[in-house]
Amino acid sequence: MAVAPSPAGIEIKYKKALINGEWTDAASGKTFDTINPATGEPICGVAECEKADVDMAVKSARRAFETGPWPKMNASDRGRLMYKLADLIEKNMEELARLESLDNGKPIADSMAADLPLTIACYRYYAGWADKVHGKTIPVNGPFHCYTRHEPVGVCGQIIPWNFPLLMQAWKWGPALALGNTIVLKPAEQTPLSALYVAQLAMEAGYPAGVINVVPGMGPGAGAPIASHHDVDKVAFTGSTEVGHLIMEAAAKSNLKRVSLELGGKSPNIVFADADMDAAVDGSFFALFFNQGQCCCAGSRLFVEEKIHGEFVDRLVAKAKARKVGDPFNKQTEQGPQVSDEQFGKVMGYIEAGQKEGAKMLCGGGRVGDKGYFIQPTVFDDVKDDMKIAQEEIFGPVMSVLKFKDMDEVVQRSNRTAYGLAAAVWTKDIQKALRISNGVRAGTVWVNCYDVFDAAAPFGGFKQSGIGRELGEYALEHYSEVKTVTIKI
Ligand code: ADP
Repeated sequence: MAVAPSPAGIEIKYKKALINGEWTDAASGKTFDTINPATGEPICGVAECEKADVDMAVKSARRAFETGPWPKMNASDRGRLMYKLADLIEKNMEELARLESLDNGKPIADSMAADLPLTIACYRYYAGWADKVHGKTIPVNGPFHCYTRHEPVGVCGQIIPWNFPLLMQAWKWGPALALGNTIVLKPAEQTPLSALYVAQLAMEAGYPAGVINVVPGMGPGAGAPIASHHDVDKVAFTGSTEVGHLIMEAAAKSNLKRVSLELGGKSPNIVFADADMDAAVDGSFFALFFNQGQCCCAGSRLFVEEKIHGEFVDRLVAKAKARKVGDPFNKQTEQGPQVSDEQFGKVMGYIEAGQKEGAKMLCGGGRVGDKGYFIQPTVFDDVKDDMKIAQEEIFGPVMSVLKFKDMDEVVQRSNRTAYGLAAAVWTKDIQKALRISNGVRAGTVWVNCYDVFDAAAPFGGFKQSGIGRELGEYALEHYSEVKTVTIKI
């Protein structure tokens, strides 16, 4: 499999920080290179924000929250601004998809079919909520009129990862803006470009200066000062469980800011012998290999019932061998590079660990090409529950197949990790589907499908996969404070 170079000549228009409605260099003047993962070469330098820039951005967000046009705006007008932003993203969809594929490495076909449509739908969904969030009138004892107001939390710090840059931004901005909060967003250092582009579109849509601030930079340099800031009211984070612990600790040690976290996963995907075999093979393959395996909810522990295990694994291996790995800008490409050299190294380390611990590697295991961060689709069979590759998040195109015999056994085994983000079950038997759906400790369960996302359906984790839910009505509670007003009659 040869890897063709990505097309050059994509113009990068926005590389600075957006603070108080102005594109600004970092106070230090520093920049960092964002890398094209298909070649390993720099795309451009981007402003490297640090504490001083975060302080400025928080000041601007505070001002916008307390004075100026934003707090006085009608809720329905906040909704209209968000519809406008969605329309502008749709108008610039192809350019944004190219930018996303350039910076992240995901196949352009995926950017166009998944990332962009889901992003646009998310903004439209929350635009509709802007004037539909309201409190209650409460019949308290005595001569009083009592009611609640759902008010915005205030200045929201938002720290997002690199696997779905545009979509993670939409999941964070949607509920925050619908409710009238202001934002300081830090995109991932691997993929800052699409967030900056959307920030420009937000300015064009007409968001008042300071409502949206974007501070690109490193995790410790720009992310940590957001998490520990005394004037940030809430921090929302998506990323590794390890950094999730740091965010919560920083929030606790500073001002007890509200915290919502969407963290790692090691999701069980359970296939019973009575499943529709074609659908289960395709769905299980997609569950793991979609987005180069870089999904927090990847079906990374594939439990296959013993009776069908042999045939099932053969079919998976055939699909892995046929997968088109290569240039993200080739429309036929199904798998691009991993996002960075660091991620490439981590995934290769897990492949080595799987072999050392005695799992059977049926295909893949190596690098593709001699530049960029491409990895062969890899399938491990005979994986045991306590192996590293069955316990830790690999975040790459490496599938682990485990065998099971009966229902109680597979429920128990599937819950034996620190995570609880997602799970899936493939069966034609409704009893089995229900017992698995009720028995697994996970925030999302898919039955005879995988990775079905909708802006209206909540997503988030049990256990160490996170705190709180994103998307849907459930996300709104993390971006609002309830105020009780009692009036003597
Ligand atoms: P990954 O290991 O997949 O890159 P991380 O959890 O390290 O995931 O990164 C997710 C996001 O968190 C990125 O925007 C990153 O810059 C940021 N980040 C990393 N370390 C910290 C930190 N100590 N404090 C705040 N944010 C951080």
